[in-house]
Amino acid sequence: MPINASRIRDLAGFKGLDAPVTSLYLDVDGRRRIRARDVEVALERMARPVRERDHPEGHASVCADLDRMEAYVRGGIDRSRARGLAVFACSAHDFWEVETLAVPVADRLVVNHTPYVRELEAVVARHERYALLLADRQRARLFLFHQGELTDKGDHLDLLPRHDDDGGQMGKDQVAGHTAAAAHRHLKQAAAAAFALFQEQGFDHLVLCGPEDVTAEIERDLHAYLRERIAGRAHLAAGATEDEIRQVADDVEAGVQRALEAATVGRLRQAVGAGAGGVGGLDAVLQALVAHRVDTLLVSEGFEAPGWRCRACAWVGTLGRRCPLCGTDMEQVADVVEEAVEEALVQACRVAVCRDNADLDVLGRVGALLRF
Ligand SMILES: [Zn+2]
Repeated sequence: MPINASRIRDLAGFKGLDAPVTSLYLDVDGRRRIRARDVEVALERMARPVRERDHPEGHASVCADLDRMEAYVRGGIDRSRARGLAVFACSAHDFWEVETLAVPVADRLVVNHTPYVRELEAVVARHERYALLLADRQRARLFLFHQGELTDKGDHLDLLPRHDDDGGQMGKDQVAGHTAAAAHRHLKQAAAAAFALFQEQGFDHLVLCGPEDVTAEIERDLHAYLRERIAGRAHLAAGATEDEIRQVADDVEAGVQRALEAATVGRLRQAVGAGAGGVGGLDAVLQALVAHRVDTLLVSEGFEAPGWRCRACAWVGTLGRRCPLCGTDMEQVADVVEEAVEEALVQACRVAVCRDNADLDVLGRVGALLRF
């Protein structure tokens, strides 16, 4: 279920040549929308004005997209796990893609010549992979958390050799009542299980949960790769429920995200101040993008601005109508920021969508760290 950058690139690559693409983001979170009907009403409210608007390039196709979306939602969504829904449709091309997300998204309905993937990009940027190791001196549990989904990886603990590596010492310790030695072996195995999971499936961050003395002991036993990935520690009992574990993961993730955003915007501020390596403001960013100089694009969540896009050469800018690069008449677009994000994705740039970052807002709500 987690969505990744290559899937987004595939979606962003679709062009509705005969008719525009309808992109829907729908908040289906049961904590906010209690009844299924609440979700249907939210979609109907968004769909009505889009149906009434004229779409000269393919009105029938857009209306068919909306019909199909409404039928899909009425058909029922399993909301036990899903909090967000993303649907991309272009009936004229028989194009229909659904992404079910375990993380929330804001409601949005967009009609454009390509799928509106900015919200998905924000989901990927905001949600890295986390491993959680819960332990006390008797038991250990291991989980992966990614885009709101928690997966039990306890099998990694079971797979570890328990006695082969110590000549049966662990069993002897327990029989002899050497509980401290046995507990130490147990924590060592927990640390080894976390590393085995890292080697097999990879993760960006590790969260250690348990009493302080236990997490400290695990940390000493951890592989150096994992020690530098520790993103948080929590006093969570080894027998915690999955909801409690998910909550801890959510909190740690939010903290990591804030710190990362602040650091990236800090780098941008420094670069802009030094006049090298970074630019701020829409015009400068679009110019850098067209010149393929962007390494990381930073955008304030919700920032939109009208502008122009050249279909002939991919120029994007705030001023029209003639393309300054190839001279073609450009197409006016309601949100050139979205065009910039799409272009950045096509160029395989990193895209960071920042929430409530005053420093980025001061720089013009959009900025870019440059490759050269
Ligand atoms: Zn052009």
